Amino acid sequence: MNEFDEVSSSGHVEDLLVAYIEGRLSTAEQELVKAHLHGCSKCSYELGELRNVMSALRDNKRVFCPSPSELYEVQRGAWNLEACLQTT
Ligand SMILES: [Zn+2]
Repeated sequence: MNEFDEVSSSGHVEDLLVAYIEGRLSTAEQELVKAHLHGCSKCSYELGELRNVMSALRDNKRVFCPSPSELYEVQRGAWNLEACLQTT
Protein backbone atom coordinates (compact mmCIF):
# COMPACT_ATOMS: atom_id res chain seq x y z
CA MET A 1 0.00 0.00 0.00
CA ASN A 2 2.19 2.82 -1.24
CA GLU A 3 -0.42 4.82 -3.11
CA PHE A 4 -0.89 7.25 -0.18
CA ASP A 5 2.76 8.12 0.28
CA GLU A 6 2.13 11.62 -0.96
CA VAL A 7 -0.49 12.25 1.71
CA SER A 8 1.10 10.38 4.58
CA SER A 9 4.60 11.75 4.06
CA SER A 10 3.58 14.92 5.92
CA GLY A 11 2.95 12.71 8.94
CA HIS A 12 -0.50 14.05 9.75
CA VAL A 13 -3.84 14.36 8.02
CA GLU A 14 -5.00 17.82 9.16
CA ASP A 15 -5.43 18.96 5.57
CA LEU A 16 -7.93 16.20 4.96
CA LEU A 17 -10.02 16.60 8.11
CA VAL A 18 -12.49 19.21 6.84
CA ALA A 19 -13.12 17.19 3.69
CA TYR A 20 -13.39 14.10 5.90
CA ILE A 21 -16.09 15.69 8.09
CA GLU A 22 -17.96 16.91 5.05
CA GLY A 23 -17.78 13.50 3.44
CA ARG A 24 -15.88 14.77 0.41
CA LEU A 25 -13.11 12.19 0.55
CA SER A 26 -12.95 9.07 -1.54
CA THR A 27 -13.47 5.81 0.30
CA ALA A 28 -9.74 5.11 0.17
CA GLU A 29 -8.93 8.53 1.61
CA GLN A 30 -11.49 8.08 4.37
CA GLU A 31 -9.84 4.81 5.29
CA LEU A 32 -6.46 6.52 5.37
CA VAL A 33 -7.75 9.26 7.67
CA LYS A 34 -9.53 6.78 9.93
CA ALA A 35 -6.42 4.66 10.21
CA HIS A 36 -4.30 7.69 11.03
CA LEU A 37 -6.79 9.07 13.59
CA HIS A 38 -6.77 5.71 15.33
CA GLY A 39 -3.10 6.07 16.16
CA CYS A 40 -2.72 9.85 16.36
CA SER A 41 -4.16 11.78 19.30
CA LYS A 42 -3.11 15.09 17.75
CA CYS A 43 -5.23 14.62 14.65
CA SER A 44 -8.08 13.08 16.67
CA TYR A 45 -8.06 16.22 18.78
CA GLU A 46 -7.99 18.39 15.66
CA LEU A 47 -10.96 16.47 14.30
CA GLY A 48 -12.92 17.08 17.50
CA GLU A 49 -12.10 20.78 17.44
CA LEU A 50 -13.10 21.07 13.79
CA ARG A 51 -16.38 19.29 14.46
CA ASN A 52 -17.09 21.72 17.33
CA VAL A 53 -16.35 24.73 15.17
CA MET A 54 -18.39 23.46 12.26
CA SER A 55 -21.43 22.56 14.37
CA ALA A 56 -21.16 25.91 16.16
CA LEU A 57 -21.20 27.62 12.79
CA ARG A 58 -24.27 25.63 11.81
CA ASP A 59 -26.05 26.45 15.09
CA ASN A 60 -25.27 30.12 14.70
CA LYS A 61 -26.29 30.29 11.09
CA ARG A 62 -29.12 32.62 12.09
CA VAL A 63 -26.57 35.10 13.38
CA PHE A 64 -24.85 35.25 10.02
CA CYS A 65 -28.00 34.90 7.94
CA PRO A 66 -30.80 36.72 9.70
CA SER A 67 -34.25 36.33 8.21
CA PRO A 68 -35.77 39.35 6.43
CA SER A 69 -38.06 40.09 9.38
CA GLU A 70 -35.09 40.06 11.73
CA LEU A 71 -33.20 42.43 9.48
CA TYR A 72 -36.22 44.70 9.61
CA GLU A 73 -36.16 44.59 13.42
CA VAL A 74 -32.47 45.46 13.46
CA GLN A 75 -33.09 48.31 11.07
CA ARG A 76 -35.77 49.71 13.36
CA GLY A 77 -33.32 49.50 16.24
CA ALA A 78 -35.59 47.05 18.03
CA TRP A 79 -32.65 44.86 18.88
CA ASN A 80 -30.46 46.12 21.64
CA LEU A 81 -27.25 44.68 20.28
CA GLU A 82 -25.12 45.88 23.16
CA ALA A 83 -27.38 44.11 25.65
CA CYS A 84 -27.05 40.94 23.57
CA LEU A 85 -23.29 41.13 23.75
CA GLN A 86 -23.31 41.61 27.52
CA THR A 87 -25.39 38.53 28.35
CA THR A 88 -22.56 36.43 29.69
ZN1 LIG B 1 -1.70 12.98 13.00
